Amino acid sequence: MNTPKSKFSEWYNEITKEAELCDLRYNLKGFIVFMPWSVMSMKKMYAIYEKELEAHGHVPALFPALIPEGYFHKEAEHIEGFAPEVLWVTEAGKHKLEERYAMRPTSETAMYSMYSLWINGLKDLPVKIYQSCQVWRHETKATKPFIRSREFYWIEAHDAFATRKEAEAQVKEDMEMAEKVIHQQFAIPFLFFRRPQWDKFAGAVDTYAADTLMPDGKTIQQPSTHLLGQNFAKSFNVKYTDEKGESQYVWQTCYGPAISRIYASVISMHGDDKGLILPFELAPLQFVVVPILKGENKDKVITECEKIVKILLQENFTVKFDNSEATPGFKFNHWEMKGVPFRVELGERDIAEESVILVRRDTKEKIKVKTKELVAKINELKPEITKNLREKADVWFNSKLSHAGNMKELDTVLNKQGGFVKVAFCTDQMDGEKCADDIKNSCQANMRGSLYGNDELPLTNEKCVSCGKPATVYLYAARQY
Ligand SMILES: [Zn+2]
Repeated sequence: MNTPKSKFSEWYNEITKEAELCDLRYNLKGFIVFMPWSVMSMKKMYAIYEKELEAHGHVPALFPALIPEGYFHKEAEHIEGFAPEVLWVTEAGKHKLEERYAMRPTSETAMYSMYSLWINGLKDLPVKIYQSCQVWRHETKATKPFIRSREFYWIEAHDAFATRKEAEAQVKEDMEMAEKVIHQQFAIPFLFFRRPQWDKFAGAVDTYAADTLMPDGKTIQQPSTHLLGQNFAKSFNVKYTDEKGESQYVWQTCYGPAISRIYASVISMHGDDKGLILPFELAPLQFVVVPILKGENKDKVITECEKIVKILLQENFTVKFDNSEATPGFKFNHWEMKGVPFRVELGERDIAEESVILVRRDTKEKIKVKTKELVAKINELKPEITKNLREKADVWFNSKLSHAGNMKELDTVLNKQGGFVKVAFCTDQMDGEKCADDIKNSCQANMRGSLYGNDELPLTNEKCVSCGKPATVYLYAARQY
C-alpha cells in the first residue's frame, strides 16, 4: 500500500484494487466485477446473516428477478420513489414485449403479489420469508465500489402479520439482529435512526435505518427495516380471515441488509496503512504459513510447515502454505495487505524449540507458541480479534458524536470531524423537509433522523437550527455517501 488511510478516499480506491476485491474495467457504467477475495468474505457474511434470520423464524425463497410492470405499478408511492432508477426489459429476441418487465430494484411488488395468493387465514400467518439476491438501481450519483453501484447484493426479508403489534415487534427484532450480526460479529458500530418522513422508504409508514461512519466522517447506511403498515397489503390485496370470519389486511415489514455495502464498511472501518484487517470469521484465508528458510535444512522446515498446515486444516480453518520463491518480507507484506488474520512463521530454530511464531494481523503482536498448544492458543485468540476490532471501532465511532446549537456550529463540526451531529429541529414530519433542504444547501448535510429508543426529555425552549421555530425533536445531521 502506498497511500496512508488518513487519505481515505485514495486509500479505499487503492485497497480495492491491490487486494483484488473488484475490477472496475467491466465496460458498463456503474457495474463492476466483484472478485474472489471480496466474494469469499461476502459469502461468509451472507451465511452469518441467513443463520440469524432463520434462527428468528425466517425461511428462504427465490423470486424472479423480473417484475411485470403491472405488479410494479400497484403501490403508488412505491413506484414514484423507485421509478427514476428502474431498469426495464422491453425486448426478447426480435420481439418487443407487450408488457415491460422491471429488473427488481427491491421485491415488495414481486413477493406481495404471491403473498396475496398464499395468505388466506390466520393459520397462514405470520409469513417470514427472505431471499438473498442482487438488485438493480440505475443510480445517478457517482458510483464507488461496494458503496454504491448499479447492481448490488443484499438480503431482503418480507414479513406479514395479523396485527400491527407483531409487525412493530418484528421491526425491533430486525434491529436486534443487526446488533448481533453487524456490531457483534462484523465489529461495525452504528446508530439506528427513525428516518424523517420525507426520507422514509417509498410506501412505508416508518423507516428505521442503521447508519455507521466511514473514516472520513461521512455516514453510510447499513440495514434498514421498514414498518409498511397495511399500505402494500391494500394495494396487493393481501388479506386473511380473522376468528370472527371477517376479512382483514395483513401488517407488513421488510428488512434489507445490503451485504455488499456492509462489506464496504468492514474494509473501511478496520483496515490500516498496510491494508485489510478482517474479523477471523470473515477472512477468506485465516492463516498463512510462511517458512523461514536459511542455509541447509530447507526440506526439514518445509516438512514441518506442512505438518502445521495439516493441523490447522484438521480444525477446519482455511490455510495457505506460501512456499513461493518470494522473500519472507514480501510475503508478510502481501498477506498483511490481504488481511489474513494470522501468520505462522516457522524456521529451523523454531523447530528445535518445538514452537512456531504466530503473528496477529490486527495488533501485529508476535507470539511464540509451542506447536502442541497452537490450536488451543488460536481458539483463545480468534474471538479476541473481533473484540479488539469492535472496541477500537466503538471508541472511534463514539468520538464522532457531537451536537450543535446553530447552523454555523453545525458546519464547523462537520468540517472539523464529520460524524453525527445532534441538532434541535422543528419537525420530522413532512413540514420539516424545507429546513432539511436548507441544511443540505448550507452545510451539505442530510438529516438522518431521530435516535431510535432515545429517552431524552422533551425539548424545552429549543429552537430549530434552521427556521428558528420551536423545536419538537432532536435530529442527527451527517454528510453521507
Ligand atoms: Zn425548522
